[in-house]
Amino acid sequence: MPLCFDLDGTLGHFSGGYVLLREVLGELWGRVPTEAELRSCQGSTDWEIVDELHGGRFGRGLPMEGYQAFETACLLRFEREFAPGARSAVVYEGMVAGLNSLHRQGQPVALVSGNAPRVLTFKAQALGVDPGIPLWGSRPGHSRADLIRLALEGCAGPHLYAGDRPHDLHAAREMGLPFLGVGPCVPGDHPILEPEAHAHVLLSTVEQLLKRL
Ligand SMILES: [Mg+2]
Repeated sequence: MPLCFDLDGTLGHFSGGYVLLREVLGELWGRVPTEAELRSCQGSTDWEIVDELHGGRFGRGLPMEGYQAFETACLLRFEREFAPGARSAVVYEGMVAGLNSLHRQGQPVALVSGNAPRVLTFKAQALGVDPGIPLWGSRPGHSRADLIRLALEGCAGPHLYAGDRPHDLHAAREMGLPFLGVGPCVPGDHPILEPEAHAHVLLSTVEQLLKRL
């Protein structure tokens, strides 16, 4: 029963993350992609976004070494900007505590996020996510739904995806999973939690959701 959670906007946030992504690509490619170029990207994972931007800039898909260079540069920027004593991530304390509590109760949980894998590891650690929770970061050729599929492989249902953006809801629908929304950007008839929700609210909402299945 993997209960899968998105990271950015669901468990906390690193404000200005997209500015940082554009700056990193500017360093690597010699020109900062415009906001309009970034907004026009269809995908929601780092691989999809950087691949689309690379296609627009160079007229061909992103090679593996290009993605690795992006991941390394991005990780260095996050490590520098969010070093102790510098900027701090905003942690949704109740959401993270609830997630960790589910994990420690023996519920299979996972993070499924659009971040490149090493960036995801850094962010999960910065937010205080239990290091025993499996992390599924953005892989070449994989959409968010593909990453959820990998996380679910070999695990008996029921499953769940929790996220804060329409692309999270779409991925859950594509996978036929129940959805738990966080914040105001994913209206619908699924349960929606405030980012400031206490851990016990997350736990009881998950329990209710799973009872309905
Ligand atoms: Mg998100």
